[in-house]
Amino acid sequence: MLGIEETAERLKSGGIVAIPTETVYGLAADASNLQAIQEIFALKKRPSDNPLIVHISSLEQLSEISKPLTELELRIINKFWPGPLTLILPRKKKVLDAVTAGLETVAVRMPNHSLCLDLLKKTGPLVAPSANLSGTPSPTKKEHVQADFGSSFPVLDGGACTIGLESTVVTCRPNFFPNVGKNEPPVSSTASHSDMIIYRPGAISDQQLSEFGIVEYYTATQPEQDASALTPIFPSPGLKYRHYAPKAKVDWLSNFERLRAVTSSSVVLLLDQNLPVEQNQNLPVEHSHRGHYIVYCKGSWERFGQLLYDTFRVADMENYSHVFIQDIRRHSSKSSLKDALINRIEKAISGH
Ligand code: AMP
Ligand code: MG
Repeated sequence: MLGIEETAERLKSGGIVAIPTETVYGLAADASNLQAIQEIFALKKRPSDNPLIVHISSLEQLSEISKPLTELELRIINKFWPGPLTLILPRKKKVLDAVTAGLETVAVRMPNHSLCLDLLKKTGPLVAPSANLSGTPSPTKKEHVQADFGSSFPVLDGGACTIGLESTVVTCRPNFFPNVGKNEPPVSSTASHSDMIIYRPGAISDQQLSEFGIVEYYTATQPEQDASALTPIFPSPGLKYRHYAPKAKVDWLSNFERLRAVTSSSVVLLLDQNLPVEQNQNLPVEHSHRGHYIVYCKGSWERFGQLLYDTFRVADMENYSHVFIQDIRRHSSKSSLKDALINRIEKAISGH
């Protein structure tokens, strides 16, 4: 098993190691090593125009990468770092084009994971895109990484990720569209009144950010199919690629009765316990019911987030053809994870 010292040494000498964060496992490399970065794109089969997030452990490391921060950026950083929030910032020249996909900005995050922070102190800034093959669900534990890259792939094991969903990606005025040139960006007109744009929802919600100004979600107006054929006017390139989809077909489940009509056995992810036919409150987390593999989260949004990608992976590994997920879109209870979860599940549903 890899220890932190060996991981740091491997990374400093140009190696690639999968590392834990609180969001998902990352495929890490020294952010200043071009060859290692190119290897990451090749390993993941990631399109080269999809930029990487640089992970840091201190504001000193940040100053190596980005230009001075605005007051709003500083306030956001003070509140949410370390944590599951990626900021898009104006880059310094020395940041490699391979990291930013040639954009004028760089994505940066300080993860809230003690092992990862200790590692970053030893190595300096690391790029760490999710440690999965492009297109498969992000890995939330060591076994997921090794399912994609082989059982001997080096992983610094930090246990299961506590959040299990990728970070919120946000940019602050005046960095909204530095890459778009003269093209009018495909964003709603209200963006002109906003202080922040969320490119990707995550565990830090729009409501939490709205304490600091007006927040807008970025909405693409172009079709997602044939993304590579489109002119690159997406301000956050990852938006145009398919994500998060298992091979199994994914559907919302709004009524448990519907499962009775499903003849092939399926994987079912439930937030609550009030949907199942049985009223047993002491069911284990995983439970088999009429051939269906059912995952209960006992009302915990955190657990639901932690288990979403794991559920997708279980379905594919065990050759289930269908995943049903409790319809949480109009759920009465509130959670800062709700928007991110709906976003990931809808992407998985539309992937088929
Ligand atoms: P991943 O590492 O797979 O979680 O993806 C990181 C995502 O962050 C990318 O897919 C982009 O959408 C976004 N991102 C990274 N760098 C930038 C940047 N400079 N400007 C806008 N978005 C970025
Ligand atoms: Mg990814």
